[in-house]
Amino acid sequence: MENKQVEEIVKKVLSELWSGGAKEAPAAAKAIPAKCKVAMLVDKEKFELREYPMPEVGEEDILVKVEGCGVCGTDAHEYKRDPFGLIPVVLGHEGTGEIVKMGAKVKWDSAGKPLKVGDKVVTCMIFPDDPSITMYDLNKQNVGDSSVYGLLPDDDKHLNGWFADYILIRKGSTVFNVSELDLTSRILIEPCAVLVHAVERAKTTGILRFNSPVVVQGCGPIGLICIAVLRTMGIENIIAVDGEQQRLDFAMQMGANKTVNFKEHKGIDALAAAVKDAVGGRLADFAFQCTGSPLAHANVYKFIRNGGGLCELGFFINGGDATINPHFDLCAKEITLVGSWVYTLRDYATTFDFIKRAKGIGLPLEKLVTHTYPLEEIDEAFKTNLKMAGLKIAVVNK
Ligand SMILES: [Zn+2]
Repeated sequence: MENKQVEEIVKKVLSELWSGGAKEAPAAAKAIPAKCKVAMLVDKEKFELREYPMPEVGEEDILVKVEGCGVCGTDAHEYKRDPFGLIPVVLGHEGTGEIVKMGAKVKWDSAGKPLKVGDKVVTCMIFPDDPSITMYDLNKQNVGDSSVYGLLPDDDKHLNGWFADYILIRKGSTVFNVSELDLTSRILIEPCAVLVHAVERAKTTGILRFNSPVVVQGCGPIGLICIAVLRTMGIENIIAVDGEQQRLDFAMQMGANKTVNFKEHKGIDALAAAVKDAVGGRLADFAFQCTGSPLAHANVYKFIRNGGGLCELGFFINGGDATINPHFDLCAKEITLVGSWVYTLRDYATTFDFIKRAKGIGLPLEKLVTHTYPLEEIDEAFKTNLKMAGLKIAVVNK
């Protein structure tokens, strides 16, 4: 570009600023390319990077430049087996990015915070047919059956998931302004919301108290975040159970104070004795079951005292049947059992505060993201996830 042209542009921008036309200036300053790129899952275990013309931004739409998105277990299932029958699909629902263009009618996020070009956002659920649903609507207990970006069928706009360089947030979507959080924290909001919800479910039993000894079984990302949520609410006696020493060491950093490696104990009786030992000679008041293993579900009752509580949240998808003895495990012990799945919109907003609090007390949440890949290497990202190497895998755009 020639100097003269640059001068002209500078003059124009400055004159707009002085004439009060500054409102449009940031939007104009952000160059939006004519084309956008998505990682389209075109077949099982097959992504294709596809380019499309940048779609129109309607008066209630928001165009977001994607900064990053976590790979979820749900994504990995769809990649491997297409159980939801979505192919061709742009996956990615744990994403975040920066607003580059907004329709004239968009003013606030779903929590009532103002929105502007340059703000960092995340999305939650989409209610295209019922825009009256808000985060304050308590009738909507669980948003697991709603639509989310990243699990939508492809359409003529294509920008339906976060594994892309842009995403088009449309009318009826919940969107939150989270500009105060760094990129890694924003990528972790969605999985963290699952645990904020689970702990809220656990609290309904009335059993979880400040001094409760609590067992967290399973130290994948879900179990580790569970420990962090318990710690931020002042629970000090947390026993982590897993079979991988590395994960147990990380559980200690996330706020557990004792660990039990189940591989070191043969049979459930020996394992239960080890947990009892770790609690301090008695069984736990409460347990969170964070694995997808039916056997782990059957085992967890043995760690809980009479009159204790259990939150089962490991079965995001159908993992098969578990066998328990209803007399010994549930009735005779008078266990209060709650199930938990996904989250509510209210939990989603609570999660932003949880992340700030967790950082405030020095919990290294950011270490959960162990691998990042550019969009071009999304295949690698999914393969790493399927190998169960690392904890949270994320696609991060340059
Ligand atoms: Zn997810």
